[in-house]
Amino acid sequence: MTILNGKEIAADALAGCREQVQGLEARGVTPGLAVVIVGKDPASHVYVGSKVKTCADLGIYSRRIELPEETSQKEVLEVVAGLNADPSIHGILVQSPPPPHINEEEIIRLIDPDKDVDGFHPVNVGKLVMEDDSGFVPCTPQGCIQLLERAGIETSGANAVVIGRSMIVGKPMALLLMGRGINATVTVAHSRTKELAKVCREADILIPAIGKPEFVTADFVKEGAVVIDVGINRLEDSSRKSGYRLVGDVAYEEVAPKCRAITPVPGGVGPMTIAMLMSNTIKAARSSMDQAEGG
Ligand code: NDP
Repeated sequence: MTILNGKEIAADALAGCREQVQGLEARGVTPGLAVVIVGKDPASHVYVGSKVKTCADLGIYSRRIELPEETSQKEVLEVVAGLNADPSIHGILVQSPPPPHINEEEIIRLIDPDKDVDGFHPVNVGKLVMEDDSGFVPCTPQGCIQLLERAGIETSGANAVVIGRSMIVGKPMALLLMGRGINATVTVAHSRTKELAKVCREADILIPAIGKPEFVTADFVKEGAVVIDVGINRLEDSSRKSGYRLVGDVAYEEVAPKCRAITPVPGGVGPMTIAMLMSNTIKAARSSMDQAEGG
């Protein structure tokens, strides 16, 4: 059984990003990422902190915009409009989830598709469906694909089962897996799927993205399967200084011995997600420069 070390694989991807940032610097451009966070959700603040720190490590300019919980929809839209117009910012992301009074979809639709480094804008979703490489692909599923590729896992003709159909993970994951170049045969399962464990046992590659701690047990997994655990769940743990520990959607201890390869949580998909955000930001900076140079 191989543990797919997302931290190490992400470090390789980030080394490539660092070189690309230097290349852009030489052409006179520093890639810039704006991260907008509304409210106090502790997990979201941790994620934003990691994104900003990784930018600093790579030489990407980042702007962290923290807005109080009571910020209105109109105010958030104004912030996004300002970032759309700011030439030093190439990528914009609004950290999810915002407080309940905020309409996230309206905000996503306002982000300039050329700066939509999360890949959530309908223009980028459409480009993903059409396999048009000029768009931005959501970071988490893109990170899962890179994990598979960089670990040398054969996907062509493989049976892949994705559990979850969200716009952030499940749907784009399925589209990428079925795309040319990856060529998996894809099943998408969700909360209404009948005989879920049986469906999952057909998978050569199983990708749970559910948000339920240790939901996927050994009886979901075929002997020799590859398991990419997207879930990140906080469980209370008084023995930890933080008061919690992170677990995935997979019951790792009992599932791992059956697998050919598996990602741990933490240290699997999470670091890859951040690496893909950096890569998307660099891509945004490069294409804005190409556009400027092309007139
Ligand atoms: P959502 O809540 O948006 O989607 C969860 C999906 O799981 C839904 O499609 C839902 O089905 C399905 N589901 C829920 N319960 C069951 C069940 N009992 N059986 C089968 N399917 C079920 O979550 P996200 O997609 O945003 O995130 C999923 C997980 O991935 C979370 O743990 C999140 O923290 C993590 N995540 C990790 C990231 C990373 O960087 N590693 C980044 C983003 C997310 P239905 O549609 O029918 O309700």
